[in-house]
Amino acid sequence: MPPSNPPRSRIRWLEVAVPAHAEAVEAVSEILSRFGHNGIAVELPIDSRGGTDHTVKAYLVEDAEAFAKVSDVRDALGHLQAFGLGPIGELAVRSIDDADWLEAWKASVTPIRIGAFFVRPTWSDARDDGAVTLTLDPGMAFGTGLHPTTQQCLEALSQLRLEGVRVLDVGTGSGILAIAAAKRGAREIVAVDTDPLAVRAATENARGNDLSVDVRAGSAADVDGTFDVVLANLVGPVLVQIAADLRARVRTSGSLVAAGITAQAEPEVLHAFTAQGLGVIDRAERADWVRLILTA
Ligand code: SAH
Repeated sequence: MPPSNPPRSRIRWLEVAVPAHAEAVEAVSEILSRFGHNGIAVELPIDSRGGTDHTVKAYLVEDAEAFAKVSDVRDALGHLQAFGLGPIGELAVRSIDDADWLEAWKASVTPIRIGAFFVRPTWSDARDDGAVTLTLDPGMAFGTGLHPTTQQCLEALSQLRLEGVRVLDVGTGSGILAIAAAKRGAREIVAVDTDPLAVRAATENARGNDLSVDVRAGSAADVDGTFDVVLANLVGPVLVQIAADLRARVRTSGSLVAAGITAQAEPEVLHAFTAQGLGVIDRAERADWVRLILTA
């Protein structure tokens, strides 16, 4: 007989699934990632015959606001179609429990090589001997290595000189960037996130990689001192909002890696950083996402 009361700690989730044509996947993912709880999953067709044969999924905690969020997602998808950026199919919502969510998530996370790094989930024993392996349990935090903005930061971390340097990772999520920096020889790494779930996930992931990362709840303003490299894979408006705090953490001639910037938000973000005396030394763009490296 099933228990009459599920354990209190059990979180229920809403899975929001949107069928999309390959060309619409990026735009749908961007919308879902604005509403979903840290991360989206994209299911690819085994044998693509065109049409809306990809599925983009996001997970929302089933709380009082969840249904309003689903309605916002519907509106945003409607706008997408109105701009001719579809074709997308009918949004489907279902309620699932933690265990199902984890299984669905696990099936969607596959090992991936990005720059100098090979990112694999904890349940995989895949190897790439030529790369620096990062083993991650994405848990409930964003940062599986699949999102283009994370990839852009990992590419930057493949190029930057990290041996012996101090690194601050603002918005660490799963801890992926902090762990990558540590694996490439950074000496002292502080990682912060405003989301307690991320703090927990990053702490566990660092431990799982046998690394010591100082993970704390908070943001750039809650950290003292300066760093050789500051990482900030956030979103445009947040980068603008905390530009001064980020600047304050970068030591003279240190680097700030800023990502999560849409091409549309780039001028405003650039303006905020230049006003703080930061100058761009490198720029990369992929699928409408811009990653900047700036120096103080
Ligand atoms: N660094 C990871 C995760 C990026 S997602 C990666 O590159 O994949 C962005 C993270 O920033 C989320 O975990 C979110 O909780 C956190 N975040 C959002 N606003 C923030 C802020 N103002 N300060 C610190 N963290 C923030």
